[in-house]
Amino acid sequence: MYDNMSKIIIIAIDGFSSTGKSTIAKLIAKKYNYIYVDSGAMYRAVTLFAKENNFVGNDFLDTKQLIFNLKQISLSFKFNESLGFSEMYLNNKNVEKEIRSLEISQLVSKVSAISEVRKKLVSEQQLMGLDKGIVMDGRDIGTVVFPKAELKLFMTASADKRALRRYKELTERGDNVQFDDILFNVQERDKLDSTREDSPLVKAKNAIEFDNSNMEIREQFEKICDLVDRIVSDKT
Ligand code: C5P
Repeated sequence: MYDNMSKIIIIAIDGFSSTGKSTIAKLIAKKYNYIYVDSGAMYRAVTLFAKENNFVGNDFLDTKQLIFNLKQISLSFKFNESLGFSEMYLNNKNVEKEIRSLEISQLVSKVSAISEVRKKLVSEQQLMGLDKGIVMDGRDIGTVVFPKAELKLFMTASADKRALRRYKELTERGDNVQFDDILFNVQERDKLDSTREDSPLVKAKNAIEFDNSNMEIREQFEKICDLVDRIVSDKT
């Protein structure tokens, strides 16, 4: 049913951290046979590179060196058949686990505020969307990366709910983390991401807002599919 004819739109999902953007995006991509791109993974991978090379740490950021070495960073996504989604590769190494750590979460907003980093990643993201049929989630997808996206969603949820989701994710995979640290990180990232000068997290004018503090994934998914179906049928 969802053949190539339906691959004519771009779906941009923005919102605060841990609002379930990627869970929804993966489900939508699967249903419509679209490509799913987790743009946050790209910023996380650049942050991992910066950390490994000592360009960033808890109390320092060597912006100049990082910018100078950006050419050394090659990012790619490779589809993992058994997981059913793509994993992030940094210079041909699978970094999916490392980039999800609390340590990287604590550094990423500093790195993602650098305009040169954003320029590099935004142009790579725009190339991925040339043929449409893509769901991308992040912070500036509907505002900067794909300002003409046919469907823009903006996800929110209470900080407590979001921190709890993140806490479960990390403890389930065996990370030793404290809930309070996660809550602090979620709030800190919201603040940094929303107040940075370049491409701050804001709701695009024509984005549809979903507060999923008390909404099940299934309900959100069905609502979003209705929106997609309507847009696609108007276009065909
Ligand atoms: O989505 P995720 O929480 O993995 O994103 C990690 C960080 O990457 C965000 O807190 C933000 O600083 C940065 N980011 C961004 N622009 C995007 C996606 C993520 O600045 N499009």
